[in-house]
Amino acid sequence: MERVLIHIHGIVQGVGFRPFIHKQVRAYRLAGTIKNTSSGVELELEGERAELERFIADLPRKAPKLAVIERVETEFSAELKHFRDFEILQSKTEAQRNTLISPDIGICDDCLRELLDPSDRRWRYPFINCTNCGPRFTIIKDVPYDRAKTSMSAFPMCPDCDREYHDIENRRYHAQPDCCPDCGPHVFYLDAEGKPVPGDAIELARAALKAGKIVAIKGLGGIHLACRCDEIEIARTLRRRKQRDEKPFAVMCRDVDCAKKICAVSAEEEALLTSFRRPIVLLKKRERGALEHLSENNYVGVMLPYTPLHVLLFGDDIDMLVMTSANLSDTPIVYRNDEATEKLRGIADGFLLHDREIQTRCDDSLCYCLDGEAYFARRSRGYVPFPVSVHEDAGMLLACGAEQKASFCLSKGNYVFPSQHIGDLKNIETLENYERQIRHFEKLFDIRPAAIACDLHPDYLSTAYAAERSGEEGIPLVRVQHHHAHMAACMADNALTGEVIGLVWDGTGYGTDGTTWGGECLVGGYDGFSRVGSIRPIPLAGGDLVTKEPLRVTWALKRDAALPTEEENGALYATMLQNGLNCPLSSGMGRLFDGVSAMIGVKTRCSYEGQGAILLEAAATAADGLYPAEWEEENGILRFDWRGMIRAIADDQSRGLDHGVIAARFLNTLVDMGVHQCVRAREQSGLERVVLSGGSFQNMILMHRLPEALRREGFAVYHHRRVSTNDEGISLGQLLIARTATERK
Ligand code: ZN
Ligand code: ZN
Ligand code: FE
Repeated sequence: MERVLIHIHGIVQGVGFRPFIHKQVRAYRLAGTIKNTSSGVELELEGERAELERFIADLPRKAPKLAVIERVETEFSAELKHFRDFEILQSKTEAQRNTLISPDIGICDDCLRELLDPSDRRWRYPFINCTNCGPRFTIIKDVPYDRAKTSMSAFPMCPDCDREYHDIENRRYHAQPDCCPDCGPHVFYLDAEGKPVPGDAIELARAALKAGKIVAIKGLGGIHLACRCDEIEIARTLRRRKQRDEKPFAVMCRDVDCAKKICAVSAEEEALLTSFRRPIVLLKKRERGALEHLSENNYVGVMLPYTPLHVLLFGDDIDMLVMTSANLSDTPIVYRNDEATEKLRGIADGFLLHDREIQTRCDDSLCYCLDGEAYFARRSRGYVPFPVSVHEDAGMLLACGAEQKASFCLSKGNYVFPSQHIGDLKNIETLENYERQIRHFEKLFDIRPAAIACDLHPDYLSTAYAAERSGEEGIPLVRVQHHHAHMAACMADNALTGEVIGLVWDGTGYGTDGTTWGGECLVGGYDGFSRVGSIRPIPLAGGDLVTKEPLRVTWALKRDAALPTEEENGALYATMLQNGLNCPLSSGMGRLFDGVSAMIGVKTRCSYEGQGAILLEAAATAADGLYPAEWEEENGILRFDWRGMIRAIADDQSRGLDHGVIAARFLNTLVDMGVHQCVRAREQSGLERVVLSGGSFQNMILMHRLPEALRREGFAVYHHRRVSTNDEGISLGQLLIARTATERK
């Protein structure tokens, strides 16, 4: 007989790990104790040496699906304590906090079965959960993860639940949010005025939805606005009330078969949809031009019910609902009951709420399926706050992100914790939530940053926040160029070191020369970069206004290409340009998209970021053919001169060529241009690895054609896999660059 102390580090709390251990202990005829520590769990076991070793060896293979075992440390001893049984000891609250926290998990099959079983005591109970599913991150106030430190502290367990909770054989053993109709939270329904309506809350909500009403529904990380999706008028009403003119709505489908009625769903996409993370997956519409009232492009964002409450909304009579985040004019998602009835007054016709508090906002995740994996436009619920592991010890750092699709990252050793979706950091409410989330993460993971990274842009609120904290706390500040951060983010995402070629295409980012960049080819690594390629800068008459009025860009493109300009206000723009009045230069790829999209009549007025580019993608046919690429070189930067392309597009237009074909040729030209720049960069640097980052790579036509074209030229190509390709992913790059910069000092 021997004794062994086993320390298991990783995501092993709140994931059914202790009952699993209990069963294993019995199977291997061992005895001892287990307790949660702040870095995982600690086991002390006695038994025969061979059995102990087998037990340890089997751990990683047999662990529950949610558990992530990062490291196992063992210490054998001949000194016995003569354990006779297996015992669970209280959490060690004093120890250093190092525990990873589970994201929220979609309802599991076992709970789903009970939910729909009339003989079960939790039949139709909208808060059913177990160790394998239910709320986690969004209800946690503090660590270690125990009921007392979650929103569930308000609900003392009834004797039945308590028995389950303490029964190691039960699948709710130590499930912190475990509850039932006798002891747990309850749903209630309020009318448009916020007054309680008597009756079965879920049936009231279902009746309202069927009648074409808009109902606010409390989910895991915030409140959704839901309505039927089969009637154009209802969707239109929701758009009008929410002041969301054209941005696509996500839909929640009863099941995969229902999603297949409107979208093409591959086996890989189905796996992503049904995974316990339940993201919104952008699926291609079955018919081009269908469901225009939900989404004006070729994709629809689809998710499956992920809470028991969602499941109960559906039936034979309701198989699909619009489910859009309840928020107003780009402020954070509404998540508290009092906030809901106040802020959503006049928007929602009814409220399906409940008394389990949401501690932390967490919007739905949004992704495409690319090469069988999630390709994020937004990494949030279901993924956050799982860390992204990086190739080297990053110590404790904070990276503050950019402005659009703001995010932050905090590191601790080899773990980087990217934040949930924060939104565009352009208003006070979003800034407050951003700051609160940074503090919350620092507390949960016990991180005190030794340095702070931020964007180079002097006017971003994230930059101001970083500078202020750096000053107050006397810690170094590292300002990182936007596109360098994009490149580094994609490197870190793929665990690359050394130097690479980076194609970074996005809408906007502050350049080292004070102009706006965004169609960049860079060469470098975490320790620095040089700009080797770009596009001919475009003067933006009216600055930021061009994103709403892309004809201003069209005018600039045509004028520069010596084409006649018939755009309204052309004379005014010309005067602005002549006087150098609010006409910043931009090499942003997003602007080129905007300008061409407006030029060919795809979209001449935009109501949200990237709309012109998204609709151009939607319009593009599978046509091949290219426009002439011309080049100009200045200070070692090879610039794509788009003037020849603009003239050729104008020619195609005057010949009456379909705008979908023109759109396709434009995209083909960009692919060709990217390859050309990389080939040139390879000739100069000898580098063969290309990373792709930036919001433009949310364009799936580019994402299918560009990597393929680069591989044909012999490049190794990397895209984002664990964080978003848009500005949300930037903080990861900032963090790794700051790590290198502070290490060198
Ligand atoms: Zn479950
Ligand atoms: Zn109970
Ligand atoms: Fe960017």
